[in-house]
Amino acid sequence: MPPDKKRHGSQVAEPGSRPKTSAAAKQAGSPVRILKGSGVKRQQAPLAPASVFGPVGRRKSWWYTYRCRICGAHLFGRAKTLDAVTGERRAGCGHRITVMAARIYTQPEPGAVA
Ligand SMILES: [Zn+2]
Repeated sequence: MPPDKKRHGSQVAEPGSRPKTSAAAKQAGSPVRILKGSGVKRQQAPLAPASVFGPVGRRKSWWYTYRCRICGAHLFGRAKTLDAVTGERRAGCGHRITVMAARIYTQPEPGAVA
């Protein structure tokens, strides 16, 4: 009978209705839980030792090069101060890394070299 079928269908679709079988509820719940767990977990960005070059001449900013620990790409960055070089950031390759000033190449003071 068509009217009975329609009524039955609307009852199932009601938001307040409870699932009749516990097995179905478990199957629906477990994948969501796994997705939530992996998404919320926050890993610390891997450390990337950088070679830092101090300002010289007309160049006022600090330049630094480093290698992404995740994909191995060699990257380049600029910062206004040496302090701004270090820290966690998104690299040019798209990975999050923590830049650490491993080698600092400061430029000679004017007049220091004869
Ligand atoms: Zn990378």
